[in-house]
Amino acid sequence: MADTALMPIPGLVDPVPTPRDVTPREDGRVDLIGLPRPRIAELFEAAGLDAKAAKLRAKQVFHWLYHRGVTDFDAMTDIAKTMRPWLAERFVIGRPDIVLSQHSEDGTRKWLLKTADGHEFEMVFIPDADRGTLCVSSQVGCTLNCRFCHTGTMRLVRNLTVGEIVGQVMLARDALGEWPKAGQADLSALGDDLVDDDGGYSADGRLLTNIVMMGMGEPLYNFDNVRDALKLVMDGDGLALSKRRITLSTSGVVPMMAKCGEEIGVNLAVSLHAVTKDIRDEIVPINRKYGLEELLQACADYPGASNARRITFEYVMLKDKNDSDEHARELVRLIKQYKLPAKVNLIPFNPWPGAIYECSTPERIKRFSEIVFEAGISAPVRTPRGRDIDAACGQLKTTAQKLSRAELDRLAEEKQAALG
Ligand code: SAH
Ligand code: SF4
Repeated sequence: MADTALMPIPGLVDPVPTPRDVTPREDGRVDLIGLPRPRIAELFEAAGLDAKAAKLRAKQVFHWLYHRGVTDFDAMTDIAKTMRPWLAERFVIGRPDIVLSQHSEDGTRKWLLKTADGHEFEMVFIPDADRGTLCVSSQVGCTLNCRFCHTGTMRLVRNLTVGEIVGQVMLARDALGEWPKAGQADLSALGDDLVDDDGGYSADGRLLTNIVMMGMGEPLYNFDNVRDALKLVMDGDGLALSKRRITLSTSGVVPMMAKCGEEIGVNLAVSLHAVTKDIRDEIVPINRKYGLEELLQACADYPGASNARRITFEYVMLKDKNDSDEHARELVRLIKQYKLPAKVNLIPFNPWPGAIYECSTPERIKRFSEIVFEAGISAPVRTPRGRDIDAACGQLKTTAQKLSRAELDRLAEEKQAALG
């Protein structure tokens, strides 16, 4: 597994490089999770198969791995019985370790997971009547320090590897018992855009229908690994989830946004949270580097955004901070000025120990929402989910370290200094 180390608050983009390729485990075997088809073929060839056999085996193994969720080579029935022990001696099919799994009274589930080298991170599953959304993490902790976010108070950060990211979705399928069974249609022939919206297996009575990259971390600071993981999720012969059912949320890493649209092509959500420079500088410090105008222009230019595929602006409701009628009207003005195909998600602030903000009153949130709605822009208020198990937005933080208020303030200063 990945040979990586936690580091104290580093610089900016990709602050803690993680290996992009395989690191053999202690027993010498290589974990295949996270690898694409051609890389699996290369490894099979390096282990002694001829090129043609390696390619064929890689195709078969890829299907079992990502489409059927098999973790044991012995279950790969179209691979010769004699070949299976050969594979098992050299390779493994891993999953992140589950440290703790919690159920909320509202049905939300949260898993505390651990990488092979001992770092903890979280994923959350949120069931609704018509869909089920998995909230996936991209980093252990976060180098940014949005003032209202618990994850931002984690001192140590490391990027998750491709295997650790796609592994979350695979674990969720394991836990929900949602791998397609033998004999179920092989959807690869349909092409990945057709797979689920046309009644393929992911939407058809399934629990897990949507993915949001909204767990711990800033996904656009771990771009390559997030992209490669989502490619496996979207592959028709992989997890086969349509890109229309995947949303990536960024706090505003402007230089990576166009690349995200071009190379991943998923829906975009932007953590806006404020409409003036002063307030956004304070609560979403990356704004000091990439300001509101640049951010909104990048949204206007986002490849693939349209009225049918709107950009979501997330707006956390903080009492007496960003929740006035004027703020709501300015939000509308900005969306119109940049002609953005946008919808707004109003998120009631979820408290955590040591937070310096309070949630706006229900009346204030309602009024804010009405002003935006009256301007013709959808602005629903999100119902907090899983608050009783600290699974709601911004509550994710592993319990590994508890900092005092003074330490939290010092940490915020350090992180902001790193932003320059
Ligand atoms: N780092 C990315 C994605 C993860 S956060 C980002 O910031 O976009 C998912 C969403 O929850 C973001 O919009 C984030 O700003 C919001 N959030 C963080 N802390 C929160 C809190 N305490 N209450 C409500 N929403 C919060
Ligand atoms: Fe990081 Fe997002 Fe939390 Fe900001 S809101 S600290 S970018 S996880």
